[in-house]
Amino acid sequence: MQLHSLLFPVCVLAEHTQQAFLSSPGPKVAIIGAGAGGAACSYYLSSATEADITIYEKNDYIGGRSNVVYVHDDPLYPAPRFNLSFSDFDLDPITGIWDGQKFSFTLDIHEPSWKTAIRLLLKYGTSPITVKNHVKKVISTFLKLYDAPFASLTLAAKFLALDSQTSVLANKYLSDLGVSGKFSHDIIQASTRCNYAQNLDQLQALTMMVCMTSSNVMSIKGGNRLIFENMIKASEANLKLETEVMKVEKEGDKWSVDGELYDHVVIATPIKQSRLSLPANIEFPEIEYVELYVTLVSTRYSLNTSTFGKSPPNFILTTTSSSTPWFNSLSVVQSYLDELVWKIFSLEEVTDVRLDELFSGEITWIYQHKWEAYPKLRPRSDFGKIEVEKGLWWINGMEGFISTMETSALMGRNIAALIANKTSL
Ligand SMILES: Cc1cc2nc3c(=O)[nH]c(=O)nc-3n(C[C@H](O)[C@H](O)[C@H](O)COP(=O)(O)OP(=O)(O)OC[C@H]3O[C@@H](n4cnc5c(N)ncnc54)[C@H](O)[C@@H]3O)c2cc1C
Repeated sequence: MQLHSLLFPVCVLAEHTQQAFLSSPGPKVAIIGAGAGGAACSYYLSSATEADITIYEKNDYIGGRSNVVYVHDDPLYPAPRFNLSFSDFDLDPITGIWDGQKFSFTLDIHEPSWKTAIRLLLKYGTSPITVKNHVKKVISTFLKLYDAPFASLTLAAKFLALDSQTSVLANKYLSDLGVSGKFSHDIIQASTRCNYAQNLDQLQALTMMVCMTSSNVMSIKGGNRLIFENMIKASEANLKLETEVMKVEKEGDKWSVDGELYDHVVIATPIKQSRLSLPANIEFPEIEYVELYVTLVSTRYSLNTSTFGKSPPNFILTTTSSSTPWFNSLSVVQSYLDELVWKIFSLEEVTDVRLDELFSGEITWIYQHKWEAYPKLRPRSDFGKIEVEKGLWWINGMEGFISTMETSALMGRNIAALIANKTSL
């Protein structure tokens, strides 16, 4: 679900930020959270200023929600949690949309594209073209956010008229656009259920369009979190792993982070998940998160044909019906010796009975983790303040607008530019 590429071209933008703000005496900055947002903030801040940066991270690794898991605990087999393929694993996916009873559409990447286009046209009319063109237009508007720092996302979204997408439910937006209900239900909803575990009557239209850009997805061999590790390394920040911040409070014109004083503090995590104690007068918009089970299993057995019928696809997306599937997506992510590793995204826990429903034989390895994965993306046009109080900044208001690694990194870079700007005044 990347918008531009996995991340914006790091060197070009670092240079841009530098040119805009020039080198200046360094503020003392604390960043709470070493995920995509915190790492990007540290990187760009160090490129633009002489800032003395400390990053606090409660986990023992960099990357936050961008993490890897080792199949059978074998470090040679890192399995991605995301819908991203590793460059050295090239099982060509056949994608099928499963509604709990039948596959409503399948897509084989070996099929000539003209044939797929004709099948789409016959089934869904011109809706795929309408959506493709519209998404292109909206995403090119979104990319304007990269052009210059913005002090308010709420105002920037309004200025670019993107609030007309964030404030409307996706199903209404699509029907106003004249997109057929069948195409929305079969194809677009399958994508939103896979990428954000939400149906078209649950999430805002901008996020729905982000889902429809996913053909440009890229990934990093060894795990995307390597990008964030390298950003932090390059920034030469003082990284404190396994250090959970409990309290941020104002002390004169400085901010105290568990007793240590800073000129600026960047909160680079969703507030609810952080257990942070903050001054009572500071308000953040309520953003609830989707609890998603990510389950990885390794097996030499194929999918259960009594559930899915003969020759099921190896990438299954789902949509709603009178018997809506309990899982959101099911896909092969890599091989492990003579087995395949499958990834299941679901809102419900995966039990043995459910695995029997999906697979025709023994599972040799299973990993399951419940994530507070992404916000419940209800329509909204207020994304909170970026500088919540003088010197106190917040990255994750961005997630109510668009929730991806890239957009957290974009907000990290934006805050770095705003701090650098203040420093150079
Ligand atoms: C299963 C799953 C699949 C996803 N798929 C994709 C995808 O395909 N593409 C995509 O772009 N995005 C995807 N995402 C979303 C993506 O992971 C997030 O949008 C992105 O990682 C957010 O980065 P962040 O830095 O804003 O927050 P986080 O990654 O959550 O980082 C916050 C960090 O702050 C730390 N922290 C929190 N509180 C404290 C504290 N008090 N003290 C110190 N440290 C603290 C946390 O430990 C964490 O490391 C997915 C997420 C999940 C869970």
